[in-house]
Amino acid sequence: MVPAEKRQRTAAIVSSWDYAPAPEAKDIVKIQDRYGLFIGGKFVEPLSKQHYTTIDPAHEEPLAEVAQAGKADVARAVRAAREAYATRWSKLRPSERAKYLYRIARILQERSREFAVLESRNGGKPIRESRDVDLPLAAAHFFYYAGWADKLEYAFANRKPKPIGVAGQIIPWNFPLLMLAWKIAPALAAGNTVVLKPAETTPLTALLFCDVLRQAELPPGVVNIVTGDGRTGAELVAHSDVNKIAFTGSTEVGKAIQRALAGTGKRLTLELGGKAANVVFDDAPLDQAVEGIVNGIYFNQGHVCCAGSRLFVQESIYDAIISKLKRRMSTLRVGDPLDKNTDVGAINSKMQLDKITSLVQSGIDEGAEIYQPPCKLPERGYWFVPTVFTNVAQSYRIAQEEIFGPVLSVLTFRTPDEAVEKANNTPYGLSAGVWTEKGSRILAMAQKLKAGVVWANTYNRFDPASPFGGYKESGFGREGGLHGLEPYLAFDE
Ligand code: ADP
Repeated sequence: MVPAEKRQRTAAIVSSWDYAPAPEAKDIVKIQDRYGLFIGGKFVEPLSKQHYTTIDPAHEEPLAEVAQAGKADVARAVRAAREAYATRWSKLRPSERAKYLYRIARILQERSREFAVLESRNGGKPIRESRDVDLPLAAAHFFYYAGWADKLEYAFANRKPKPIGVAGQIIPWNFPLLMLAWKIAPALAAGNTVVLKPAETTPLTALLFCDVLRQAELPPGVVNIVTGDGRTGAELVAHSDVNKIAFTGSTEVGKAIQRALAGTGKRLTLELGGKAANVVFDDAPLDQAVEGIVNGIYFNQGHVCCAGSRLFVQESIYDAIISKLKRRMSTLRVGDPLDKNTDVGAINSKMQLDKITSLVQSGIDEGAEIYQPPCKLPERGYWFVPTVFTNVAQSYRIAQEEIFGPVLSVLTFRTPDEAVEKANNTPYGLSAGVWTEKGSRILAMAQKLKAGVVWANTYNRFDPASPFGGYKESGFGREGGLHGLEPYLAFDE
């Protein structure tokens, strides 16, 4: 056994290593000065005649001018999607549809470095994540749903599926290309056409994706991309010729969309916020659990709807977990998203940084104890030091509200029942984590936790074959797997 003093000396040496810069080259991807809207298979000038600037949040530098689509632009995109649906896409043999999806998947793989660099520049996430997570998963989604396109009639016993028409899809800024893949792949596999609106701060990978569609020779109008802010999204929701809305974003906007659609007969799926519980029992492998905790909350700067933002630790291991966690946090490297050694990148926008800052202040004001490891942040750009709060009461805002940043709130429990009670004490129900050696306990917890996804001895694992979605205020409908096709199909019973 190494004496504690010596262990600490070793720890200090490891965390003080200097890393040479290891930046990924930027010039692999060409960014245009200005983009139009992708409608009917080509880029067109917005009828609104309005553009806005999209930036690189790590440097606060402009990257491109992007169109702000207005009502007439959305109408034009929906017309193109309807025409493509009626004349081409719904008439195509399913096996032919599958070929296009396979092609898109292959091209995404071939151009993955280009997409990863652009994703990190426009969104601020570390290149390690966009390269190793976002891109492979986006391609995998297209591969997976390509496989279903010609098997739909066998997929649902005694039910004959058919497409529903034009899908309006609205996505957030935390996984811009991946969310696009989650939305477009099942919609097309099921035989629908699409009008998709990316988030206002991260439109560039969706616009580069239009070039993939051109390369894949997808028939014009099958996928249309309209950029703009929430007003563009609201126009898409309000358009009478859209048959379905698929939305991923905040609970507040999700509720507004549900209100807008009430009584219209349009189909709706909502994937909204979360405040996931990551529950660590005293028999868990502690070092592995600490890795899972770090991955659960600091992955993608905590801009993750299923982030493990509430950590529940069994009282008997509280001190051990907190000291291991703090030590591990001191090794996290915050900085340039394009550096291959970066663990935590830039906060996506000034607005989000302000929101995180104010919620963290509320935690301090309400009496929680804050810990942030020593950390030198770049001078320009939007940054937030990985943060952990201890001494948190369940009533505090940092234990109740979604922060969507690298901020963890730690609470404790004594018994499994108490853990379940506290973990479920939230309006959300998207995801949860359980750390224990006992298989039976994993099963019992998974049954009792009110969450759409429960990870056991791991966290933030995704697979296109596995359905993802929420309960309660985290929304309804599932994405991924066979379940992810149903919202895009109608059935002749
Ligand atoms: P976030 O917390 O991720 O910023 P939002 O719900 O504000 O969540 O944004 C998610 C997506 O919803 C974005 O593409 C945004 O432009 C869009 N959006 C915002 N307001 C509305 C609205 N009223 N109707 C439709 N879409 C909207």
